[in-house]
Amino acid sequence: MYNFNSDPRFKNVQPFEKRVWLSSPTMHGEELEYMKDAYETNWMSTVGTNIEELERLIAEKAGVKHAVALSSGTAALHLAVKLAGERLYGMPKAGNGTLAGHKVFCSDMTFSATVNPVAYEGGEAVFIDTEYDAWGMDPIALEKAFQLYPDVKLVVLAHLYGTPAKMDEIRNICDKHGAFIVEDAAESLGAEYKGVKAGKLGDYGIVSFNGNKIITGSSGGAFLTDSRADADKARKWSTQSREAAPWYQHEELGYNYRMSNVIAGVARGQMKYLETHIRQKRAVYERYKEGLCDLPVSMNPMDLQNSAPNFWMSCLLIDAEAMCESVRSERNYLFAHRFGKSCPDEILGALDSFNAEGRPIWKPMHLQSMYRSHAFVTADGDGRGNSNTCIHAQGHADHGADIFNRGLCLPSDNKMTCEEQERIIDIIHRCFE
Ligand SMILES: *Cc1c(COP(=O)(O)O)cnc(C)c1O
Repeated sequence: MYNFNSDPRFKNVQPFEKRVWLSSPTMHGEELEYMKDAYETNWMSTVGTNIEELERLIAEKAGVKHAVALSSGTAALHLAVKLAGERLYGMPKAGNGTLAGHKVFCSDMTFSATVNPVAYEGGEAVFIDTEYDAWGMDPIALEKAFQLYPDVKLVVLAHLYGTPAKMDEIRNICDKHGAFIVEDAAESLGAEYKGVKAGKLGDYGIVSFNGNKIITGSSGGAFLTDSRADADKARKWSTQSREAAPWYQHEELGYNYRMSNVIAGVARGQMKYLETHIRQKRAVYERYKEGLCDLPVSMNPMDLQNSAPNFWMSCLLIDAEAMCESVRSERNYLFAHRFGKSCPDEILGALDSFNAEGRPIWKPMHLQSMYRSHAFVTADGDGRGNSNTCIHAQGHADHGADIFNRGLCLPSDNKMTCEEQERIIDIIHRCFE
């Protein structure tokens, strides 16, 4: 491990006494009241007022007709993908998932929770490369993918770090090919694209209340839809598929995915602070943009022309010419420092050694060993057969690998003070010395 504390570039840099987090929960008080309510009325289960109210509030916030509160965003994605599979392909044969034998186009640069549910349902994810303007699914690559696999009927896409993907282009392509969209808005609650809220931009949407999201229940998630029948079905599946009968009557496979009324109390208390958190996160982003403008770097795109992002995460992208030599294996890295240059692993290491938490960009799914046999489509076509997938210069194939290699997530906690953020900006400057 490189020792930053004995590196003369970091002389006199004091470590943070209290760790500066990437994105930690921010409580306000109401959460505890609603939790106490659940306790005092003894609705300490997966039924109660907090759940009902939270579902109403989420639906209102996202502009959809129905929200179903679930145990996690991942559970919500699983039910969304399963429902989509059943709508598209009908009931599966016994022992099979609803997507058995079918390919599904998926965002490539995202958290694995976006794409794993496709495998839960027996489908085969085909990864679609990323564009540079919003760090979302690249419409050009998506169009290429439909040329290569014209039978595909389902697209699962994520908005990255709070910036909505290029939805007009993606929607047009999907309409042309008769494909259905599951929208993973886990990171982008409160964001908008051309006046429409994230979560309502696909055919089914999901949000997450995981601890590091813009608002949290400590855990939890929700499935979003305008269809009453689909909401009812997701709700039924999430409670072990009990039918309306005097005994435990089961006619379909079920899951234990319902949200707890205690957790719903936390999320319910947070709902009214969504706009406050967005404002604070935006200020963090803008301070970084200003404070780092003299370095050979850019910030993650916040496409303000078409959308109003929620600024969940501030990320940095180092200019290709300003990258020092660095290599990553499956589990480790090496870099050689050069004056005027740096790399994500150096900056993340420096931040960590002074007690601040950053994070690498989501490692693209096509680079994950568990998905190595799955197809990957770039703007140039087949991303697996392309010899320049190893050359990650901007403008070439494999944008995802390029952004992963040159990018990182900065400490983006909304409770970070200006003084703390200035010290972080200073540490980043020293990395380039
Ligand atoms: C957090 C996250 C999820 C999963 O949400 P959980 O509530 O943690 O299960 C899914 N997709 C993306 C893009 C996420 O960031």
